[in-house]
Amino acid sequence: MEGFTDRQLQEIQALLLEKKAQLEQQLRDAESATGVVTLDQTAVGRVSRVDAMQQQSMAVSTLRKAEASLRKVIGALRRIDAKDYGYCSNCERPIEFKRLEVQPQASHCLICQDQLDQA
Ligand SMILES: [Zn+2]
Repeated sequence: MEGFTDRQLQEIQALLLEKKAQLEQQLRDAESATGVVTLDQTAVGRVSRVDAMQQQSMAVSTLRKAEASLRKVIGALRRIDAKDYGYCSNCERPIEFKRLEVQPQASHCLICQDQLDQA
């Protein structure tokens, strides 16, 4: 077991908190965008209503993605608190720090993630 230094964990935690704030902002923005169609229904014509509906469905998919990411970020923060952070939840080997610096919410090592992505 390699484990991470406190300094590395602090760095990761800061990254995660930053991501969390960004995602929460994104969620607020997307939530207000998903209200567009109902709000403007009487005011806009048919063509722009289609536009609004497309924008709304894009906002919904952004919302779903942001929600999923936020769950992962929160999960990673919990694992840091529980001193259980940085191990692949599939093979239980330590995840490379370089990978975590880019994807601090990663819960799988590269090898397992590849297999998941292909599945
Ligand atoms: Zn793994």
